[in-house]
Amino acid sequence: MQTIAERLKVARERIDQATARAHRPSKSVQLLAVSKTKPVSDIRQAYEAGQRLFGENYVQEGVEKVQALASLSDIQWHMIGPIQSNKTRLVAEHFDWVQSVDRIKIARRLNDQRPDEKGQLNVCIQMNLDDESSKSGIAADELEAFIAEIDGFEKLRLRGIMAIPKADADSQQQQQTLHQLADLFGQYRTKLSNFDTLSVGMSGDLEAAVAHGSTMVRIGTAIFGARG
Ligand SMILES: *Cc1c(COP(=O)(O)O)cnc(C)c1O
Repeated sequence: MQTIAERLKVARERIDQATARAHRPSKSVQLLAVSKTKPVSDIRQAYEAGQRLFGENYVQEGVEKVQALASLSDIQWHMIGPIQSNKTRLVAEHFDWVQSVDRIKIARRLNDQRPDEKGQLNVCIQMNLDDESSKSGIAADELEAFIAEIDGFEKLRLRGIMAIPKADADSQQQQQTLHQLADLFGQYRTKLSNFDTLSVGMSGDLEAAVAHGSTMVRIGTAIFGARG
């Protein structure tokens, strides 16, 4: 069996190859290691192998890990899962990024509850271009108004957009979704000063995402193994 360090190396090589094919600098894509459901000892192994960005989906589990690993102060913690109103305070107090903002009510609470000493909370707006009513994320035609509201929240720093394109999409639909995301991202990247993140691509589709301009891929299984 491969170690976490070995699998991390493979994931970084996949990113390097994908960026090279797209004629992009390899540093233009960040790797977020998605450690949901995995133990703190796995995160430590990844950290020792040089990984610094970690993503968690569940608030309670994530906060426990942030606290357990508080001594590793250069870890950057990303919340990437759905957030209920009664969990926003925990998120605002413990995370560095929230990628899954898709309701103004949640954004407002994160803004109000962000402790001053923590500085601004980095946020991405979660998009849903596949129009699956069950899934989180806003539609393309809602983005402009959403951005205008977020812009007024002083303790939030709007960094970009995040999406989870449909897993079973045929490649043509996937290409189209990735293309639309890149297009939306491009429209705001030049207009807004901190808007530098297109978070798309997971273990199974990172190559296609990087080909379409992703600046951050979120990789779980390919680093930590299957989730039980
Ligand atoms: C679980 C998860 C990932 C990682 O998915 P893998 O297929 O394990 O790489 C990425 N993004 C989000 C939002 C997730 O929930």
